[in-house]
Amino acid sequence: MTEDDYTAMRHRMVETQIAARGVSDPRVLAAMKKVPRHRFIPSTLWDQAHGDYPLPIGEDQTISQPYIVALMTEMLELKDTDRVLEIGTGSGYQAAILAELAAQVYTIDRVASLLAQAERILAKLGYTNIKTRVGDGTLGWPEEMPFEAIIVTAGAPQVPRPLTEQLALGGRLVIPVGDRWSQTLTCVRKTTEGLKFEYHGGCRFVRLIGEHGWQEGGWL
Ligand code: SAH
Repeated sequence: MTEDDYTAMRHRMVETQIAARGVSDPRVLAAMKKVPRHRFIPSTLWDQAHGDYPLPIGEDQTISQPYIVALMTEMLELKDTDRVLEIGTGSGYQAAILAELAAQVYTIDRVASLLAQAERILAKLGYTNIKTRVGDGTLGWPEEMPFEAIIVTAGAPQVPRPLTEQLALGGRLVIPVGDRWSQTLTCVRKTTEGLKFEYHGGCRFVRLIGEHGWQEGGWL
């Protein structure tokens, strides 16, 4: 398979899985066509890189289904001047999509080995507007607040309060909220009248583990 083959597969992925299901923001579609998804997963899985499902990336974690990445990104309504915080770097793929659409990306993962691998590939692809940190992302990144957009790519039992506190006025927080098995994609908007909630359908993510998330090892 050549890089041209992967590019063709990506374009098909965007048309059949993403645009066909109603994601229409042209900037989001262009970013999904541009970022080489296969480079963020183990090379043994490259032939499945554009499948309509999540894939394992090690440490019991997954890279999200392409459609979910596109949908959550569209919900963030990013402008090219925005500063974005991501909780759950994982493979680094979502961070690369964000970096195509915003001015600066801050991304946190609690697993140092995943973060190191993500940093390697993001550097190799030439991204210079992504800052990374190892730690509990449910606490946010207070030194860099406020953020115009925050995305959580792990399933949370509730919306972590530090994250809504670190959201700029007019800012959007997109987060899957629910139980261990299924969550609802939730968008929280900070307005002058307070927080406004919108719900966008079901999804299934690995757990957000931390002070304002699930307890490590806990069953529910
Ligand atoms: N956005 C990723 C997929 C994330 S998978 C991608 O594009 O590939 C979920 C990630 O959330 C895992 O890497 C997991 O280690 C991380 N995670 C779970 N709880 C966390 C927490 N409290 N803070 C930071 N990262 C967390």
